[in-house]
Amino acid sequence: METQDYTNNGFATRALHVGNQPDPTTGAITPPIYQTSTYVQKSPGVHQGYEYSRTHNPTRTRLQECLASLENCKYCVVTATGMSAEMLILHTLTKGVNVLCGDDVYGGTYRLFTTVFQNDFNFTFADSSNLELFKSKINELKPAMIWIETPTNPLLKICDIQTISKAGKEVGAITVVDNTFMSPYLCNPTDLGADITYHSMSKYINGHSDVVAGALMLNNESLYKDLARLQNSIGPSQSPFDSWLVLRGVKTLAIRMQRHQENAQIIAEYLEKHPLVEKVTYPGLASHPQYELAKTQYNRGFGGMITFFIKGGLDNARLFLENVHVFMLAESLGGVESLIESPAIMTHASIPKVEREKIGLTDNLIRLSVGIEEVKDLIADIDRGFAACK
Ligand SMILES: *Cc1c(COP(=O)(O)O)cnc(C)c1O
Repeated sequence: METQDYTNNGFATRALHVGNQPDPTTGAITPPIYQTSTYVQKSPGVHQGYEYSRTHNPTRTRLQECLASLENCKYCVVTATGMSAEMLILHTLTKGVNVLCGDDVYGGTYRLFTTVFQNDFNFTFADSSNLELFKSKINELKPAMIWIETPTNPLLKICDIQTISKAGKEVGAITVVDNTFMSPYLCNPTDLGADITYHSMSKYINGHSDVVAGALMLNNESLYKDLARLQNSIGPSQSPFDSWLVLRGVKTLAIRMQRHQENAQIIAEYLEKHPLVEKVTYPGLASHPQYELAKTQYNRGFGGMITFFIKGGLDNARLFLENVHVFMLAESLGGVESLIESPAIMTHASIPKVEREKIGLTDNLIRLSVGIEEVKDLIADIDRGFAACK
């Protein structure tokens, strides 16, 4: 069966069809799970492109093709977790170089940089949404790598990928963008000049809260070869079954994101009017400090993540979190079901309290990952949470 060229098709079509060509031996419409470690050779060294599944696996290859297409990239490396993808990137660097990182990044990224690689590289953390400050750090440090996450987690500050990547290029830095919160449907950082787009696929890309996985998408061939070599040498390769699950999950990414953000917009506007809410942050609200940048950088919408500060401190935050039921109290995000959490107590507890408060991450902050349920049920649930507050 010949492979079709979907290059000129739209996002939703590519999400469904790239890497999902029918099985050539049986016509099965769903790709087989090649649950195999090794591959039989005709003669020593004569094989069909596959020798061992740490290096390559046909189900993983299909997923990599699909994901590269969704980020408009030539190459993709799929890893067993998001964190192991981050580890591979750090291993491409030479010991002793400077790394400049946003100061409001995923807690696990902060932990990886400050407790695993702290003796290998010099990390500096700075507010990546403050463009003048961040650019001056780029020029001062001349980092080998710049690491940004946008919107930031959990404060949802937005940084200008295009300007930062350009400033990085001028000093020879590689810019990595953690695009987990937006998904490839809403933002394609390499189109804006970034060198590597990174995703924890445990979130929106898979979307069903049943897999942990990571992905790196890029166009630079030598950097890709280095990452593939490191994947093979270190070994955090995604299993065939999990690759298959993500290949299935990503088929509905476009339609899921549409619903996530439709619900999120309604909820953000509702929260903004509520008397028990001190402040709401959502990139799709005109009150967001970088609303104008958000509109140009995210051309299909603003995603499904909202944070808000509840009045009445930690006591009310606790009461609210204990009394919602449709929103599940759990870490993680990006699944079809709505999740809610307290960053100070849960996802960002590994950041010392003084550091947290310095960046405005206070105890009364609540983070919502808005799912694709009926929005009226989500609003009723939020009302139940507020009704329990003092
Ligand atoms: C979850 C997450 C990660 C880490 O990915 P895992 O798949 O959990 O290893 C990195 N960055 C962001 C923004 C995340 O949300």
